[in-house]
Amino acid sequence: MNLRKQYAAHSRRITRQPRWKALREAVKDRDGWACVLCGARTRLEVDHVKPVRDWPELAWDMGNLQTLCCRCHSRKTRVEIGLGRENPAREAWKKLARSGLNEQ
Ligand SMILES: [Zn+2]
Repeated sequence: MNLRKQYAAHSRRITRQPRWKALREAVKDRDGWACVLCGARTRLEVDHVKPVRDWPELAWDMGNLQTLCCRCHSRKTRVEIGLGRENPAREAWKKLARSGLNEQ
């Protein structure tokens, strides 16, 4: 099973329940039917701010939910599962290693 699927399995335990549908609509209503990051009004999804995997007790908490468009949502998920940007310290080290090689 790939990492993304494994990750999604945690929230699917929540999102497959009938009461999720009602909660999801309530969150979109609260957020004015727009992505809270970029303001897009199409392809909206409801995101767990703190991932269900790490914070199962907040899965049904409106305060832990936000409306995102599918682009912002998948970007956030990528970062959460560690496929986002490398951390800056590591990038700096690699740059240093490369410049050291060039000098030889
Ligand atoms: Zn967005």
